[in-house]
Amino acid sequence: MRADRPAAPRRPRHPQAVGRQPGNTGSNVNTSARGEREACYTSLMLRPRLLVDSLHQVSAELLRDLGVRGVLVDLDDTLLPSGADTLDASVAAWLGGLRPAGFPVAILSNGERERVATLAARFGCRSLALSGKPFAPAFRRALRLLGTRPSETAMIGDQLFTDVLGANMAGLVSILVRPLSPGKLPHTRMLRHLERMILRGGDRGGPVHR
Ligand SMILES: [Mg+2]
Repeated sequence: MRADRPAAPRRPRHPQAVGRQPGNTGSNVNTSARGEREACYTSLMLRPRLLVDSLHQVSAELLRDLGVRGVLVDLDDTLLPSGADTLDASVAAWLGGLRPAGFPVAILSNGERERVATLAARFGCRSLALSGKPFAPAFRRALRLLGTRPSETAMIGDQLFTDVLGANMAGLVSILVRPLSPGKLPHTRMLRHLERMILRGGDRGGPVHR
């Protein structure tokens, strides 16, 4: 008589998607569509810890849940549409609420120095312009501004290849937000297309709309 063997655990047809829900972590992203563990450094580095539609979803409570004590935020297409110079009232309220909630905040932008400094002064934030994201010195300088460690600092931005990649490589908590405009420059629009492909195809567990 053949002994009953315990049933092998069924492999999920699709791994868990990195969606927009708060609480997504990077821990579920190195499982391929075939259900096998495949360490993929590049893929992991391009995966945001959290993907949100709007800055308003990034509440003080959520930041505390993520262990965040300081916030870096990108300027163009994150706080305001690329090329604009006024902040939406609700975004201004979100930004203005961070400091009273106990989060030091600074703008970390690759944008031109004078524009970034002018806008940051208007918004009451410290800033680093022409920062050189995604490279590490940008984040080291920004962390010195805030006085926080990488693992307790969020980088909120709209671009995978600057904000998310740089934050992940530097050990920060990366939060990708839906861009506020399609982008002014042709290369930005091309990168947006590539970002959508990566976000959709990274785990094939479900589309991520941007
Ligand atoms: Mg941006």
